[in-house]
Amino acid sequence: MVDKAKVEAAIQLLLEGIGEDINREGLVDTPARVARMYEEICGGLDETAEEHLSKTFTSSNSEMVIEKDITFYSLCEHHLMPFYGKAHIAYIPNGKVVGLSKLARTVEVFARRPQIQEQLTGQIADAIMEILKPQGVMVYMEAEHMCMTMRGVKKPGAKTITTACRGAFAENDSLKQQVFWAIK
Ligand code: ZN
Repeated sequence: MVDKAKVEAAIQLLLEGIGEDINREGLVDTPARVARMYEEICGGLDETAEEHLSKTFTSSNSEMVIEKDITFYSLCEHHLMPFYGKAHIAYIPNGKVVGLSKLARTVEVFARRPQIQEQLTGQIADAIMEILKPQGVMVYMEAEHMCMTMRGVKKPGAKTITTACRGAFAENDSLKQQVFWAIK
Protein backbone atom coordinates (compact mmCIF):
# COMPACT_ATOMS: atom_id res chain seq x y z
CA MET A 1 0.00 0.00 0.00
CA VAL A 2 1.21 3.50 -0.79
CA ASP A 3 1.72 5.47 2.42
CA LYS A 4 0.27 8.76 1.24
CA ALA A 5 1.47 10.76 4.26
CA LYS A 6 5.06 9.66 3.57
CA VAL A 7 4.84 10.51 -0.13
CA GLU A 8 3.34 13.90 0.70
CA ALA A 9 6.18 14.67 3.12
CA ALA A 10 8.73 13.53 0.54
CA ILE A 11 7.30 15.74 -2.21
CA GLN A 12 7.25 18.69 0.13
CA LEU A 13 10.90 18.08 0.92
CA LEU A 14 11.72 17.65 -2.77
CA LEU A 15 10.10 20.98 -3.63
CA GLU A 16 12.04 22.66 -0.83
CA GLY A 17 15.19 20.90 -2.01
CA ILE A 18 14.96 22.34 -5.52
CA GLY A 19 14.46 25.80 -4.04
CA GLU A 20 10.72 26.22 -4.50
CA ASP A 21 8.38 28.12 -2.22
CA ILE A 22 6.04 25.37 -1.04
CA ASN A 23 3.50 27.92 0.16
CA ARG A 24 2.85 29.54 -3.19
CA GLU A 25 -0.62 29.00 -4.51
CA GLY A 26 0.17 26.61 -7.32
CA LEU A 27 2.15 24.26 -5.08
CA VAL A 28 0.04 24.16 -1.93
CA ASP A 29 -1.92 21.07 -2.96
CA THR A 30 0.84 19.49 -5.02
CA PRO A 31 2.19 17.08 -2.37
CA ALA A 32 -1.29 15.62 -1.75
CA ARG A 33 -2.02 15.48 -5.47
CA VAL A 34 1.24 13.68 -6.22
CA ALA A 35 0.58 11.22 -3.37
CA ARG A 36 -2.79 10.31 -4.90
CA MET A 37 -1.15 9.98 -8.30
CA TYR A 38 1.49 7.58 -6.98
CA GLU A 39 -1.24 5.44 -5.50
CA GLU A 40 -2.46 4.96 -9.05
CA ILE A 41 0.78 4.73 -11.02
CA CYS A 42 2.39 2.38 -8.47
CA GLY A 43 -0.81 0.45 -7.86
CA GLY A 44 0.72 -2.66 -9.41
CA LEU A 45 2.62 -3.24 -6.17
CA ASP A 46 -0.66 -4.24 -4.50
CA GLU A 47 -1.67 -6.67 -7.23
CA THR A 48 -0.55 -10.07 -8.42
CA ALA A 49 -0.68 -11.62 -11.86
CA GLU A 50 -2.55 -14.60 -10.37
CA GLU A 51 -5.61 -12.42 -9.81
CA HIS A 52 -5.89 -11.93 -13.54
CA LEU A 53 -4.43 -15.07 -15.07
CA SER A 54 -5.98 -17.78 -12.91
CA LYS A 55 -9.39 -17.54 -14.58
CA THR A 56 -8.88 -19.68 -17.65
CA PHE A 57 -11.03 -21.36 -20.29
CA THR A 58 -10.52 -24.82 -21.68
CA SER A 59 -9.60 -24.74 -25.34
CA SER A 60 -8.59 -27.39 -27.84
CA ASN A 61 -6.80 -24.69 -29.83
CA SER A 62 -3.05 -25.03 -29.69
CA GLU A 63 -2.29 -22.37 -32.29
CA MET A 64 -0.43 -19.21 -31.40
CA VAL A 65 -2.43 -16.35 -29.82
CA ILE A 66 -1.02 -12.84 -30.21
CA GLU A 67 -2.25 -9.79 -28.33
CA LYS A 68 -0.46 -6.80 -29.79
CA ASP A 69 -0.23 -3.04 -29.20
CA ILE A 70 -0.95 -3.13 -25.47
CA THR A 71 -0.12 0.43 -24.39
CA PHE A 72 1.67 0.62 -21.07
CA TYR A 73 3.13 3.26 -18.77
CA SER A 74 5.82 2.50 -16.24
CA LEU A 75 8.33 4.31 -14.05
CA CYS A 76 12.08 3.96 -14.52
CA GLU A 77 13.44 2.92 -11.14
CA HIS A 78 16.73 4.76 -11.69
CA HIS A 79 15.23 8.21 -12.31
CA LEU A 80 11.55 7.85 -11.35
CA MET A 81 10.63 9.16 -14.77
CA PRO A 82 8.09 7.56 -17.09
CA PHE A 83 8.85 5.07 -19.79
CA TYR A 84 5.97 4.06 -21.99
CA GLY A 85 5.17 2.28 -25.18
CA LYS A 86 3.67 -0.93 -26.48
CA ALA A 87 3.77 -4.51 -25.33
CA HIS A 88 3.05 -7.47 -27.59
CA ILE A 89 2.40 -10.89 -26.12
CA ALA A 90 2.30 -14.20 -27.99
CA TYR A 91 1.61 -17.57 -26.43
CA ILE A 92 0.86 -21.09 -27.53
CA PRO A 93 -1.92 -22.55 -25.37
CA ASN A 94 -1.65 -25.91 -23.71
CA GLY A 95 -5.34 -26.73 -23.23
CA LYS A 96 -6.10 -23.41 -21.52
CA VAL A 97 -6.57 -19.83 -22.68
CA VAL A 98 -7.24 -16.58 -20.79
CA GLY A 99 -9.51 -13.67 -21.64
CA LEU A 100 -7.50 -11.30 -23.82
CA SER A 101 -8.00 -8.36 -21.45
CA LYS A 102 -6.22 -10.40 -18.76
CA LEU A 103 -2.98 -10.19 -20.70
CA ALA A 104 -3.24 -6.40 -20.67
CA ARG A 105 -4.02 -6.51 -16.93
CA THR A 106 -0.92 -8.62 -16.37
CA VAL A 107 1.19 -6.00 -18.15
CA GLU A 108 -0.26 -3.36 -15.80
CA VAL A 109 0.49 -5.36 -12.65
CA PHE A 110 4.21 -5.25 -13.44
CA ALA A 111 4.32 -1.87 -15.24
CA ARG A 112 2.67 0.14 -12.48
CA ARG A 113 5.65 0.14 -10.14
CA PRO A 114 9.29 1.29 -10.31
CA GLN A 115 10.84 -0.86 -13.00
CA ILE A 116 13.49 -1.42 -15.61
CA GLN A 117 12.18 -2.50 -18.99
CA GLU A 118 14.28 -5.67 -19.22
CA GLN A 119 12.94 -6.93 -15.90
CA LEU A 120 9.37 -5.89 -16.71
CA THR A 121 9.47 -7.92 -19.92
CA GLY A 122 10.81 -10.99 -18.14
CA GLN A 123 8.32 -10.76 -15.26
CA ILE A 124 5.35 -10.71 -17.63
CA ALA A 125 6.69 -13.73 -19.53
CA ASP A 126 7.46 -15.67 -16.33
CA ALA A 127 4.05 -14.96 -14.80
CA ILE A 128 2.24 -16.21 -17.92
CA MET A 129 4.49 -19.26 -18.06
CA GLU A 130 3.96 -20.14 -14.39
CA ILE A 131 0.24 -19.47 -14.08
CA LEU A 132 -1.18 -20.28 -17.52
CA LYS A 133 1.40 -22.98 -18.27
CA PRO A 134 1.35 -22.55 -22.07
CA GLN A 135 3.70 -24.37 -24.43
CA GLY A 136 5.57 -21.13 -24.74
CA VAL A 137 5.33 -17.37 -24.44
CA MET A 138 7.07 -14.40 -26.02
CA VAL A 139 6.85 -10.83 -24.78
CA TYR A 140 8.13 -7.99 -26.96
CA MET A 141 8.19 -4.45 -25.57
CA GLU A 142 9.14 -1.18 -27.23
CA ALA A 143 9.27 1.99 -25.17
CA GLU A 144 10.48 5.55 -25.00
CA HIS A 145 12.26 6.49 -21.78
CA MET A 146 11.80 10.04 -20.56
CA CYS A 147 15.10 9.80 -18.70
CA MET A 148 16.77 9.48 -22.11
CA THR A 149 14.68 12.02 -24.01
CA MET A 150 14.14 14.84 -21.51
CA ARG A 151 17.50 14.71 -19.76
CA GLY A 152 20.93 13.09 -20.16
CA VAL A 153 21.63 12.20 -23.78
CA LYS A 154 18.36 13.84 -24.95
CA LYS A 155 17.48 11.56 -27.81
CA PRO A 156 13.78 12.00 -28.48
CA GLY A 157 12.22 9.16 -30.42
CA ALA A 158 14.87 6.63 -29.40
CA LYS A 159 13.14 3.34 -28.62
CA THR A 160 14.28 0.59 -26.33
CA ILE A 161 13.23 -2.89 -27.40
CA THR A 162 13.27 -5.87 -25.07
CA THR A 163 12.12 -9.43 -25.58
CA ALA A 164 11.59 -12.43 -23.35
CA CYS A 165 11.08 -15.88 -24.84
CA ARG A 166 10.08 -18.91 -22.79
CA GLY A 167 9.31 -22.53 -23.63
CA ALA A 168 8.71 -23.20 -27.33
CA PHE A 169 9.69 -19.65 -28.28
CA ALA A 170 13.10 -20.04 -26.68
CA GLU A 171 13.79 -23.14 -28.77
CA ASN A 172 12.24 -22.29 -32.11
CA ASP A 173 13.34 -19.30 -34.19
CA SER A 174 10.54 -19.68 -36.73
CA LEU A 175 7.97 -19.08 -33.96
CA LYS A 176 9.76 -15.84 -33.10
CA GLN A 177 9.72 -14.87 -36.77
CA GLN A 178 5.93 -15.37 -36.87
CA VAL A 179 5.60 -12.93 -33.97
CA PHE A 180 7.88 -10.34 -35.57
CA TRP A 181 5.88 -10.62 -38.77
CA ALA A 182 2.57 -10.22 -36.93
CA ILE A 183 3.54 -7.16 -34.89
CA LYS A 184 5.20 -5.20 -37.70
ZN1 ZN B 1 16.00 6.09 -16.18
